[in-house]
Amino acid sequence: MLLLRDDRTRTECAALQRAHAALVHAVSHGTTDVRATLADKLAATLRTALRSPMYDNTIPAGVRARLSDDAPLSEAELTELLRRLPFLGKRDLAGYGQGAFTRQVGDFLHYYESSGTTGHPSAAPKALDDLIVNTINIGEMWGRILAPTDIALILINAPFAPAAYQFEKVLEYLEVMSFRPWVDNITGDYTRVLRLVEQLGANVFIGPPSRLLEMVQFAHRNGLPAPRFDRLLLMAEQTGPSFIRHLERLTGATAYVASYGSSETGTPAVTCEHRNLHLQPQSFLLELFDEHGARPVTGAADRGELVVTTLDIPARPLIRYRTGDLVEIDATPCPCGLASPVLRTLGRSQDLLLLAENGIRQNDLENALWAAELDGGVVFNYMLVARGNQVVFLVTTDGDGTPGWCDQLAARLRPLFGPVDLVVRPVATLPPLASLGQYLGWKMSRVLDLGDEQNWDRLPEPIRSVVRHTLDEVAAPGEHTLTG
Ligand SMILES: [Zn+2]
Repeated sequence: MLLLRDDRTRTECAALQRAHAALVHAVSHGTTDVRATLADKLAATLRTALRSPMYDNTIPAGVRARLSDDAPLSEAELTELLRRLPFLGKRDLAGYGQGAFTRQVGDFLHYYESSGTTGHPSAAPKALDDLIVNTINIGEMWGRILAPTDIALILINAPFAPAAYQFEKVLEYLEVMSFRPWVDNITGDYTRVLRLVEQLGANVFIGPPSRLLEMVQFAHRNGLPAPRFDRLLLMAEQTGPSFIRHLERLTGATAYVASYGSSETGTPAVTCEHRNLHLQPQSFLLELFDEHGARPVTGAADRGELVVTTLDIPARPLIRYRTGDLVEIDATPCPCGLASPVLRTLGRSQDLLLLAENGIRQNDLENALWAAELDGGVVFNYMLVARGNQVVFLVTTDGDGTPGWCDQLAARLRPLFGPVDLVVRPVATLPPLASLGQYLGWKMSRVLDLGDEQNWDRLPEPIRSVVRHTLDEVAAPGEHTLTG
């Protein structure tokens, strides 16, 4: 899987690969009792964590003393110890930087950081051992959907984050040919990518949905044939049922929300062929947190903020890491037959749009846009600009965007917005911001709330400049963006 010069490392990696693949098999088929193995992994994780300055600070002295003692830990005792450990927040982790590592920085294989939506990126380098494990976890699931005859386009513009590299390794693991081009966030010129998709016969798209949407619109605007795929492996953005159907109609493909995870956690859930995200309990101990406190994910129906303890990232273990993502566990057995529980993502806790005391959710909005067809043109994509009680709803469309069409669309949206003054405006292109959902989440990438000054602080450069530019354009009707 990796070309390695050193004999000993190569042998160790091969042994890890074999052992982990066997564990994945055991967990997914529920064939053997893996509880003892997972308890051993948790004990090893907690003990390894003590080597990092971060946990040396945060693990209470009593727990530290017990962990430092070499005596074996029972499953019950481990559960009790874990419960006594504090939660780790995103800002805390970012603040510790390399202090979260248990190894020297040069012992990692690749350096990465999380996207840092809040302006506080966390160090998220990959080491050989965690790379192998995460690749197998994803690969064994995607192997149910992909075959070596497939050709995959990986379109992920995130140079500091590990996602594009990680998925490339998964495709290598499955011997699927891939290519990983780059499209500038500002110019958004997809000419060459579209040519390659056609010439190579790429039939699988891997990347965030808003990036795909931008590529499809680019093709339409430039009179090029729309790219067609067999399968879309989507990730990194909240993608509800209406959004999925919209993307399937545009590309002729079957769409999967293919994985759930982040730069810092790795990948705690991966899709099966029935489009369900299955948890990866062999590598993650998961809890749910809400106003009633935290409890372990058991497979029973439940919902809350996902809290992650990594069992297979010894170089920078995360213990009780609060992801900020709202999720639910679906207890309905999946037709694929895998034993691990199914996870549904509900978006980030901050991704709820409040206008006129209304809580507007992404899924409801996209349902109004895409659940039923509009006469006179499809909405490709959208962005809201809110100022006080006014909302300008910017849309791109493959139709003419006539006043009648706008009224039809506005009539569908108004019930969601209540007393807000809503206007639909067709535009030739949306600001580049609309394709940055991967970094910013739905609300920050599709909603410009001019009333909330704090939003500025949440935008890292160069995205902050992009937003300012967008506002200038929106504030000056008649500029090239607004055509309606
Ligand atoms: Zn399944």
